[in-house]
Amino acid sequence: MPEGAYKVLAEAQQLERRGKSVIHLEIGQPDFDTPDNIKKAAIEAIKLGHTKYTPPLGILPLRNEVAKFTSKSTSTNTNFTEVGITPSGKTALFTAMASVINPGDEVIYPDPGFPSYKTLIKFFGGVPIPLPLLESENFSFDTKHLKNIFTKQTKLIILNSPSNPTGGIIPKKDLQEIANLAIQYKSWVISDEIYSQIRFSTGPYESIYSIPKMKKQTIIINGFSKTYSMTGWRLGWVVAPKSIMDKVDSLLTHSIGCTASFTQEAGVKALKDSQATTRQMVAEFKKRRDFVVNSLNNIEGVTCLKPDGAFYVFPNIKHFKKSSSYIANYLLKKAGVALLDGTSFGEYGEGYLRISYATSIEKLRLGLDRIESSLRKLR
Ligand code: PLP
Repeated sequence: MPEGAYKVLAEAQQLERRGKSVIHLEIGQPDFDTPDNIKKAAIEAIKLGHTKYTPPLGILPLRNEVAKFTSKSTSTNTNFTEVGITPSGKTALFTAMASVINPGDEVIYPDPGFPSYKTLIKFFGGVPIPLPLLESENFSFDTKHLKNIFTKQTKLIILNSPSNPTGGIIPKKDLQEIANLAIQYKSWVISDEIYSQIRFSTGPYESIYSIPKMKKQTIIINGFSKTYSMTGWRLGWVVAPKSIMDKVDSLLTHSIGCTASFTQEAGVKALKDSQATTRQMVAEFKKRRDFVVNSLNNIEGVTCLKPDGAFYVFPNIKHFKKSSSYIANYLLKKAGVALLDGTSFGEYGEGYLRISYATSIEKLRLGLDRIESSLRKLR
C-alpha cells in the first residue's frame, strides 16, 4: 500500500508548479525547526570527529538515556540491554515486525492506522486482521470485537496511541483488555508510541508496557521525529526483551550496519536537556487543534471529535454521500487544499478525512475557509 501523504504531496506540488495555490494539510511532520541545542550537539560531534561506525544497537550513552526515559515514563525498570537505536521509527517498526512475524501468523492492527503496519504484515507473510477504530468509541475499539478476532493464531497485535490518523488515545481500561488477551494467547504487542509526548490532557502517558507481566511481551517503537521536530534526521529506537533484541541486533548489523554517529549524539542531548521546547510545541498544537476542531464543526455536514494527541484530526464527512477519496480529490483540485482521504489508512477510514494541523494558524484559517466554501457547493 503506498503512503497517501507522499502521493498527495506529489500531486499538490504538480498543481503548484502550474501556478495553483495549495494549502498543505497532508503532511505528518511538525512545522517547527529542530531546537538549537540539538543541532549544536550534532555539529559539535562532527567537529570532534565522531563520524565513524557505532555498534549496531547504538552508542551506550543514547541507549542509557532511552532506558532512563522508558523507565521513568512507564514506571518500569528498563536497562540499556533492552534498547536498540535505529535510523528512524520506521526502521524500529520494520526490525521489530521482522523479528516476530512468520508466514501464516495472524497480526491484528488498527484500521484506520499507519499504512506501514498492513504493508509490512503482508511483506513478512503474515495475515493482516484489522481492528476497526470507531468514532463512537472516541477512536478506540469495540472490546467485544477484539475478543472475537483474537485467536490461537494471533502472533502479534499492533497498537498506536496517540494514533495516526485519528489523534485518539487508547484508554487504560482498553489497554488492560488487550493485555489480558495477549497474556491468554501468548501474543506479542508492538506499541508504537511515536506520538506519546504530543498529548493535550494532563496525566501520565499510559503504555501497555507498564501493565504487570506485559513488559516481557511488549516491543515499544519510538523516536525523535515528532517530539523534537527531527523528521529528516532519521533517529528512532526500539525497546524489547532480549530474545527480540538479539534479532533486531542481527537485522541492523546486516542491513544498515549502524545509525549515524552524530545524530545519535544529538539524540542524547535531546533526551537529557530541558523539554521546554517540546512543551511549547505541544501548547501551540493544542491551540491549533482547538481552532481546527471548532472550525470544522461549524461547517454544515461535517462533525469532528476533539482528539487528545498527535497533530491530526479525523473529521466525519459521511453527510455528503460521496467517497472520502472523491472529497479529498475535489478539495485538492477545487479548493487548493491538500489533505488525505480516510481510506489511505484502511477501509474503516471511509467517510473521514485526515487533516494535519502541523502548520500555522494563518494557513489553517485559509485552508478551512476554502474547505467550507467548496463543501457548501457539494451539498
Ligand atoms: N509510527 C507512526 C504512527 C507514524 O505516524 C510515523 C511517521 O509518520 C512513524 C511511526 C515513523 O516515524 P519516523 O520513521 O519518522 O521515526
